[in-house]
Amino acid sequence: RFGNNRFKKHGCFEKGGGSLNDTVVKYSKVSKTYGELEVLKEIDLDIAPGEKLAVIGPSGSGKTTLGRMLMTLEEPSSGTIEVDGELLWHQRVQDRLVRADERHLHRIRGKVGMVFQHFNLFPHMNVLRNVTEAPCKVLGLSKEEARERAESMLEKVGLLDKLDVYPSKLSGGQKQRVAIARALVMRPQVMVFDEVTSALDPELVGEVLEVIREIADEGNMAMMLITHEMDFAREIADRVIFGADGAIVEQGPPEAIFEDPQSERLQSFLKRFR
Ligand code: ADP
Repeated sequence: RFGNNRFKKHGCFEKGGGSLNDTVVKYSKVSKTYGELEVLKEIDLDIAPGEKLAVIGPSGSGKTTLGRMLMTLEEPSSGTIEVDGELLWHQRVQDRLVRADERHLHRIRGKVGMVFQHFNLFPHMNVLRNVTEAPCKVLGLSKEEARERAESMLEKVGLLDKLDVYPSKLSGGQKQRVAIARALVMRPQVMVFDEVTSALDPELVGEVLEVIREIADEGNMAMMLITHEMDFAREIADRVIFGADGAIVEQGPPEAIFEDPQSERLQSFLKRFR
């Protein structure tokens, strides 16, 4: 049905398969329920290394839940998620799935980064500390190494002059760029951007999209871009998935999704953005 297609930035569509090398993320029959509410229903989804995947769909369709599960912020009710060939939440022991221990989870978590709608910066730390905290604590880098990495990331997002500033003194766009630098500094293989411009004043959206565009152009990191910015999705994505009612209703290259939507659901969804 859905999933099973791999699209490489500079390559072509490949069908089937499932070897570890051409898949950095693999959701297999992933379901999520909150009480009675079935948010995701048996989702199958593969993301190729370096692939830029846009996720669109109405509010409440489970997009954020999909991303949060990859970041291990939510646990699937059933099904499995693999990152770089390793299982989240589980480990394989002699062909059996057993619950993962913290060390296993810790290692895999390092392969995924996430940027949130509401920035989630540490308010009591200046910009530099916000970005160096995880590389020091999680990766065990020395202060100097972490600072060097952090400065190069802050330069990338255009905020090298704000090292000593606290988040409360930054604009929303600047905060979001710090959050992007903080995620990038961990050098994840895949990064989830969850509606990162929705909380911004319209005039600040552009600077954040520009940073994401530059990161996307570098090419090697896979991206899951949950967004309501249809023009941006169209420009950046290798593949777009449209989710509704907990399922992937339609997916394909941006031209197909935006210019030739097949399902009535997607057609009526897109009308709202015209
Ligand atoms: P989207 O990102 O597409 O708007 P979400 O993944 O945020 O969708 O949410 C999907 C549905 O799950 C919504 O109805 C939301 O209210 C519900 N939901 C999300 N998180 C929780 C939670 N922690 N507890 C209960 N319901 C939740």
